[in-house]
Amino acid sequence: MGRKPHRDPQDPLSPQPTPQAPSEAALENRVRPLSFQEFVGQRQHIENLRVYVSAARARGGAVDHILFSGPPGLGKTTLSCIIAAEMGTAIHRTSGPAVEHKGMLAGLLTNLNRGDVLFIDELHRLPKVVQESLYSAMEDFQLEVLIGEGPHAQAITIDVAPFTLVGATTRAGLLTAPLRTRFGIPIRLEFYGPEDLTEIVLRSAARQGIAIAPEGALEIGRRSRGTPRIAIRLLARVRDFSEVAGARIIDRPVAAAALSRLEVDEAGLDPTDRAYLTMIIERFGGGPAGVEAIAAGMGEERDTLEEVCEPYLLQQGYIQRTPKGRVATRQAYTHLGFSLPMSHYTPSLFDERPDRDDRD
Ligand code: ADP
Repeated sequence: MGRKPHRDPQDPLSPQPTPQAPSEAALENRVRPLSFQEFVGQRQHIENLRVYVSAARARGGAVDHILFSGPPGLGKTTLSCIIAAEMGTAIHRTSGPAVEHKGMLAGLLTNLNRGDVLFIDELHRLPKVVQESLYSAMEDFQLEVLIGEGPHAQAITIDVAPFTLVGATTRAGLLTAPLRTRFGIPIRLEFYGPEDLTEIVLRSAARQGIAIAPEGALEIGRRSRGTPRIAIRLLARVRDFSEVAGARIIDRPVAAAALSRLEVDEAGLDPTDRAYLTMIIERFGGGPAGVEAIAAGMGEERDTLEEVCEPYLLQQGYIQRTPKGRVATRQAYTHLGFSLPMSHYTPSLFDERPDRDDRD
């Protein structure tokens, strides 16, 4: 979540924007892994993808259509680029809302060569009419187009080279069944563990010539909300702080100090996460609270909460989803230092998942 670091002009340690600083997208491209070999984590999925790619190569065909789902920043785009690179074919990138009508889809499809990857990000936002003409292209590599207008319009069928559609979505549940079932390879990317994220930080630092100790990388990795994109972004910000502070290397204390300046807490929660939990606890008595009401109370977009904030808090056990809405767990109360209200103590809600202290 893009909360900018607080900049205080009076504070010499405060990071200053430098005109040469690369944009976040440029930075991401610079550190993007280019092969399965370089891609960290998601082991089982990578093993399988390797098999699909080598089988397709041996056949001289295309990999079956792939659907990547999962929160932003987990590597959906990166994997799509890797698949094309490993196939030795080209990737054509677009996104759901950008393909506004059938004509645009036809333009994209007729540009493809055998084995190419057509990557459609935010697939759940592809207009319905475009989705419908995608079906026959996915199944039979054929596309029906209308030539001319009005009563003289003529439908003709054109062949499309066998290609791989790679769809990416943060909201697989919003895809229609006919579209979802046309993907032979559905892959749900999971949050990364601290070890993988540490590895990603170390590799990303090496590529950029940033001096970092393994403990410094671990501190960033374990506080990155399970997300490579966040790990890479935090590394860049921590580097700013360490340079201004004149640190020779990013070790654990340097990383920890910078992260707390960035308001990323010990558990890796950021200000939006804490505001979200505080809202449920303070305004809604711990819940259940509807996401719409929480979003309105926070002045946040509902989509942002559902796609970015909630998946991690759910996975980490800070909230639960019930038919009546979101409920803050005991772990959320403890983490934020709220005392647990006895009147709201419902064993079935709070005890379903043991909190951290119980587990340790
Ligand atoms: P998504 O498409 O899921 O939003 P991206 O593929 O754009 O995510 O990844 C975001 C950033 O994180 C990129 O810079 C990418 O290089 C990096 N990244 C993602 N997954 C990995 C990984 N498994 N190993 C190394 N870097 C990764």
